Formats: sequence, structure tokens, C-alpha cells
Amino acid sequence: MPPVLTTCTACGCTCDDIRLSVDGEGAVTKADHACEIGQQWFARPPATGPVAMIEGREATLDEALARAAEILQGARLPLVTGLQQATTEAVRAAMALADQLGACIDWTASDADAASTLALQNAGSVTASLGEVAQRSDMVLVWGMDLATTHPRHFERYSLEPTSAWIDGREDRTLIVIDGSSTATAKLADEYVQLDPNRSYEALVVLRSLLADITLDAATVKQQTGVAIDKWQELVEKMKAAKYGAMIHGGGLAASRECLIALTQLMADLTAHTRWVAMPAGSAGNKAGAASVLTWQTGYPLGVNLAEGYPQYGPGEWTTAAMLERGEADAALLIGFEGDGPSIPTVALDWQSTNAMASATVAIRTARPGVECGGTTQRVDGVMLPIRAARTTDAPTTEEALEKLKSLIEE
Ligand code: SF4
Repeated sequence: MPPVLTTCTACGCTCDDIRLSVDGEGAVTKADHACEIGQQWFARPPATGPVAMIEGREATLDEALARAAEILQGARLPLVTGLQQATTEAVRAAMALADQLGACIDWTASDADAASTLALQNAGSVTASLGEVAQRSDMVLVWGMDLATTHPRHFERYSLEPTSAWIDGREDRTLIVIDGSSTATAKLADEYVQLDPNRSYEALVVLRSLLADITLDAATVKQQTGVAIDKWQELVEKMKAAKYGAMIHGGGLAASRECLIALTQLMADLTAHTRWVAMPAGSAGNKAGAASVLTWQTGYPLGVNLAEGYPQYGPGEWTTAAMLERGEADAALLIGFEGDGPSIPTVALDWQSTNAMASATVAIRTARPGVECGGTTQRVDGVMLPIRAARTTDAPTTEEALEKLKSLIEE
């Protein structure tokens, strides 16, 4: 069988140039273009065992779906969550089911991401596609992350090395790294600024102030950021002099609403001088797709309660961790859920063996996106990318299972 062109979702790079080969047994033998992390991701063995289990005992898919329908229909306030590893099509099916059930719908790590979501809703963003960054950026600023290690092909594909009509690869670009320690990324930098991650907000305020020509006290700047004012002034001049700057940031900044708002304001301030954009490096799976589908369908990206027949938004209230902690959900539909399953009746769907699958009342093994089934996934910059199947499986796709479940509940 010829190699299949598919997309890797093992990190936020979402590389769509992977050529996947499988042998006669369905084992992945080659993942051309994938980095080491991607190779390991594709090499994960297919899950074995029955397609469906009820309370630890093998069952037919129909029996499992019937029991799942019973659990979810009988619940006062079911929670539909997971979703970060699902295709966009599977998230859409989950959304339709949540609507039908009057459930809360959310995704696994939404509580951790609520800060960045709220910052985006408060301040907007100054951003671009990664394609534009690859074509245009002559300065790349990596803030608070070891991008070369966590996203091994980011520099190659998007930020530092691509050539275009305007930029001649690495030679034409300046790489600045601001981070707490000298990482592999910092070692590649033209300039490295060591900054305690807990002082990111203060540093962003200093940069904004210097950009606005506000006179600052040097001793205070040094005390608040741990970095001399001259270094910040030098950085501001470099940022102003860039033709197109791209800031890529990691989890540290994303966890702070204040930092993200200050960052967006800095990008907007820089627009008076030149073009700058900022974007997170992104994470594994299809978190961007999950948030987008929820937004398309309800107007809100996470923590949506449909119990009253219309969407209500509750970050920190109807988000996964908060609902499970308070014991408010009395049943859960877990779709590719990372972490332990909660101690309420659960229906778990996944392509791999997880703690949530092991403890689920009903567990259904589904086809693995990007290897056993196709669909679409969304890159961190919002670009939709196709994923394709390279081998067959006896398991249903997640959307097939969810659509059958919805039909059963309708009946
Ligand atoms: Fe996969 Fe990320 Fe490596 Fe690309 S950089 S192949 S998305 S792990």
C-alpha cells in the first residue's frame, strides 16, 4: 500500500506533510518527515481487545450504546467532555448530542486555558497565520518556552528557517529568546534575555512603557524584572526596527490573563512602528478545533451549559474540573479524556487504553484519527488540516458512535 499523506497532532506544530506507511498487519513502519516525538506518536500500537465493554465485561457495540443511552438520558446534569484529541467532525457530533441531552459541554484542560480564553475575549489578539509568519517574519521572539524541544519542527516549518520571496531563511532572521533558563532554544538565539517567569507581567509593562517613551526609574526596573533597563531599551529598539516580528509564547504566559492582555496591548502598540504578531505555540491534539466548534454552535468556546435549552457560559463553573470537583455532574460522556475517570457513571470513548476507559461504566474503543480514520483538525492559528486513515479497524469512528447514540436517545 502506498504511503498515506496525513497530519501529526502530537504537538502544536500540526505537521501536515507526514507520509505514513503501514505493513500488512497494520503496524506503522515509517512516518516520513515526522520528528522523534511524531515518530513515537505514530508508532503507538493499536489498542486491542473488545470494541465495547460494560462494567468491565465484553459486550456488543449495540449493547454498549443502549447502556450508554440509558445512563446519559437518566442523568440530571450530564457532562460531555474530553474532545481535545477528537476530530472536528467528532466534536460536532458531541455538540449535537450535548444539545439533545441538555448537558454541559467542555474539553479536558479548559480550566487551565480559561485565562487565555478570557484574555482573548477581553483584549482580542494581534495575530496571523503561521504561513504568514513563515513568509514574512524577520524577527522571532520566543517567550517562556523551549520551543525547539517541545515543538521540534516549528523553526523548520514556520518561524525561523523557511525561505520566501522576502526572507532568505535563518540568515535573514533574528531569534530572541526570553526565558527563565538557558534551554536548547536559548542556545540557538542571537540574543537571550534571562527573565524569571514570575516577572513576565512586569517585563511586558516595562516594554510597553519604554515603547511609549515614558521615563522609568532604572533601579525600579531592575528590581521588578531582574533585568537592567538598558537591556529592555535595546530590545524595544530591535522590535521597532523589525520589518515583521513574530512572538511565539508558551504555557507560562498563557496561564495568566493579565500577561496575555499586556502582551496583546504590546503588539497593538508596536503596530504604530511596524508589524508584530503574537501567538501561542499550541498543544497536542485538536484543542483549537474543540473550542472552535463550541463557539460556532453556542457562541462560547468552553464551559457551556445547555440544560435550559439555550447556551449559558460558565468558565470556572461549568468547566470540567470545576463540575467534577463540586460533584454537580451525575454522569459523564468522556471522549478521549485524559486523566482519571470520575466516580460517577461514565461512558468513555477512546482509541487507546486510558484510566478513564478502564474505570468507565461503558467503554467503547474507537478508530484512531490520523491513522485509522480521517477527518479534520485545527492548527493553533485556526487553519483546518486534513487527517487521513492509513489502516482499517473494526472499531467505529467517534462520530459514528456518537451519532448512533443520539439516534437511540431520539427513539
Ligand atoms: Fe508531530 Fe510536532 Fe513533530 Fe510535527 S513537530 S511531526 S506535529 S510532533
